[in-house]
Amino acid sequence: MNQAGPVKGAPSLAPEVLGAHREVPLLDGRKVRQAFLDNAASTKSFRAVSEFLRKVEPLYSNIHRGSGFDSAYCTRMYEEARDILLRFVGGDPSSHVVIPVRNTTEGLNLLANTLSLNPSDRVLTTILEHHSNDLPWRGKARVEYVPVDGEGRFVLDELRRALEREPGNARVVTVTGASNVTGQILPVRDIARLAHEHGAWVVVDGAQLLPHRAFRMGTPSSPESVDFVVFSAHKMNSPYGEGAVIGLTEPFADAVPYLQGGGTVYSVSLDHVIWADPPDRQEAGTPNILGMIAMARAVQVLERHGMDRIEAHEAALTKRLLAGLAELRTVRVMGSCDPNRTQDRLGVVTFTVDGVYHALVAAILAYEHGVSVRHGCFCAHPLIKRLLRIPKEEEERLEGSLRAGDRREIPGGVRVSIGIHNDAEDVDRFLEGMRAIVERRWKGDYRQDPETGEYEPEGVAFDFRPLPAFDDPLD
Ligand code: PMP
Repeated sequence: MNQAGPVKGAPSLAPEVLGAHREVPLLDGRKVRQAFLDNAASTKSFRAVSEFLRKVEPLYSNIHRGSGFDSAYCTRMYEEARDILLRFVGGDPSSHVVIPVRNTTEGLNLLANTLSLNPSDRVLTTILEHHSNDLPWRGKARVEYVPVDGEGRFVLDELRRALEREPGNARVVTVTGASNVTGQILPVRDIARLAHEHGAWVVVDGAQLLPHRAFRMGTPSSPESVDFVVFSAHKMNSPYGEGAVIGLTEPFADAVPYLQGGGTVYSVSLDHVIWADPPDRQEAGTPNILGMIAMARAVQVLERHGMDRIEAHEAALTKRLLAGLAELRTVRVMGSCDPNRTQDRLGVVTFTVDGVYHALVAAILAYEHGVSVRHGCFCAHPLIKRLLRIPKEEEERLEGSLRAGDRREIPGGVRVSIGIHNDAEDVDRFLEGMRAIVERRWKGDYRQDPETGEYEPEGVAFDFRPLPAFDDPLD
């Protein structure tokens, strides 16, 4: 085992993240510093973002056509936020547009409904995708899943074969920048080159990748450029309901808006509409103005710290994490588990423990070690079923149970995911908890709720009483 101590690479950003190391209560009444390792789901706010928002909030006003001071100010901040996001991904103002959305899911739905697909067109993707980069495309075109290898790794030659099978018929290649299950980073430049050779657009689901690695769209004339990227602010320390699609303006200018209403038009008559140009055309209704400002501020924090330093810091912790897990014989990591190969993966690690159900592992980590992780299928059911090698008949049996409201046997794993506020102590506490679990040293008597599949220790529940509540007085 590694000894706890400073990790090589850049320092943790814990002081800049609100609640990064708050104390949490344990089953035995002790309190410990929380090890928050669920960053692939959501990250906690940057202090700088929260403080910035507090200063901007008194000026809140709706944007664009308001004539007062506050509206002019918010309009300016909103448009500057757009520029900050464009620069963050190395976009080109003359050919790319930034479209604010609620999150990655909405952004991918926007794309699937904008890229004017015919049912006979092909959309190529992988089974590595989050459901948000799979379901929106279904029904719009023929979605085909480029095979991955036995460990769930993306294989470029499989994409080449799929593209060559029906030359010219693939309209879109859409891939995740990094898997939210195995953490692997996909070779988006190579994918883009191949896709462009075959005349397809390239969409990158950047939800996991962008908070952790420097990303560049590339100049649109380059064969390796990415045409569209989508990401969410809540995974980059700005949890205020915002995300963005950044991509080529032209397809948006050619399409009828996916959401229609106020703000999307130049003129409306009773029998016709003149749609506005992008981005207004795609921004129906009042946007999340404060969310957009917060997101851009978070990007500034990331940039000030430096994406290379973030990468170095997280890679060192990932190495420590994988090396520690490798010592536990009954733990099986999904995908690559080589601690010396951190350059092509994020600190997102999913695993199972022989003989201990994933929900129970997660509950013990929370109640007995103050470690927050996530368990289940991570909105990637096809991938999890594949990695767990669940046969078709078993899948059908499990679906029968689910339909009957019984969630006790949902397949899945436990996911631990590193963020910029984590340090060696967080990783070591997690590993300590895992050692206790594999050695069957837990204290609680855990019971499973058949309706949710979750475990809770008998007679103990999280005590939220000291925390803000809606029955607090409103003065
Ligand atoms: N894609 C990936 C790879 C993700 O990890 C997630 C979030 N777990 C999403 C898409 C969806 O993001 P959101 O919930 O912000 O829409």
